[in-house]
Amino acid sequence: MDNSEKIDILSCSFEELESEILSMGEKAFRAKQIYEWLHTRKVNDFAQMSNISAQLKTKLNEKFCIKSLKIKKRLVSKIDNTVKYLYGLPDGESIETVLMEYKHGNSLCVSTQVGCRMGCRFCASTIAGWVRNLLPSEMLLQIYETERDSGRRVDSVVLMGIGEPLDNFDNVIKFLKILNSDGNGMSLRHLSLSTCGQVDKIRELAKLRLAVTLSVSLHAATDEKRSEIMPINRRYPLSELMSACDDYFSITGRRISFEYSLIEGVNDTDESADELIALLRGKNCHINLIPVNEVKERGFKKSRSVERFRARLEKAGLNATVRRTLGADISAACGQLRREFKE
Ligand code: SAH
Repeated sequence: MDNSEKIDILSCSFEELESEILSMGEKAFRAKQIYEWLHTRKVNDFAQMSNISAQLKTKLNEKFCIKSLKIKKRLVSKIDNTVKYLYGLPDGESIETVLMEYKHGNSLCVSTQVGCRMGCRFCASTIAGWVRNLLPSEMLLQIYETERDSGRRVDSVVLMGIGEPLDNFDNVIKFLKILNSDGNGMSLRHLSLSTCGQVDKIRELAKLRLAVTLSVSLHAATDEKRSEIMPINRRYPLSELMSACDDYFSITGRRISFEYSLIEGVNDTDESADELIALLRGKNCHINLIPVNEVKERGFKKSRSVERFRARLEKAGLNATVRRTLGADISAACGQLRREFKE
């Protein structure tokens, strides 16, 4: 049997693994041991599971595969220790993962799809369209391989790499559950999920009450401007998005974070700031301002009024910070490294 017919063991929840192990005629505690090897010690070979008999290892190898990622490229910033990985997937596709260092620990930016079909006008990840969804194992492996390679521990995760996490809903939820299980033990309070605004899925996520921080990519505060740069807004206009955000907050108690990338002449004027104030005033939220990353195919320029914009929001009582630029020397906005590699 080649690997494609075997069960992808890293994508199995604990309950699924346990039922597979029981069906092999093994005792339940074996599942616990194996799960711990995979998700606590993070080994990538059954051979390393020293408390498992040789006979069981052979059976495991026949039934399951442990997937892995290949480092195709690693860029290390000389300024701030940011590391950007281009990871090769088993089918030859590639994705990006970025390790960032903050005062409170290491944060990892994880991709959720190969490509993206959301079509945001400023974003490099969507230019060549969507290829496929990532499996839970392929999201977990971005964490595990990065920890192995860098020797650093990942303390928090942001789903802000390539792809729209809510467009790969089931796999992302399974990834979150494995990450949050006994093996890994990462609190979902340390996880942010960023969405361009898939309202139906925001509502589904709220119902799961997972304590995940929701980041909503806003980038404009009127339907006219937002629809121009984010096609999703034509399907789910701001009134629907805001109502889903309000409900997310009241159901989960988690404050929403709004992302706003400032683009010169497009959404960075005083008028745009006032529109944003009108939209968000009185809401318990945080606004993350990001000078747009210039993507060569897109022609958008970084705003020169970032500080002026921030000050105007602050004066109106809104809570806004400018995101620190990390890894400026290895730049490559989200999705750019994968594009360059393909070319
Ligand atoms: N699809 C999700 C998550 C991936 S993108 C989403 O839309 O939220 C992560 C963040 O980077 C989003 O806020 C996205 O709008 C933003 N982004 C994409 N391209 C950018 C660019 N060129 N400059 C600045 N931010 C960008």
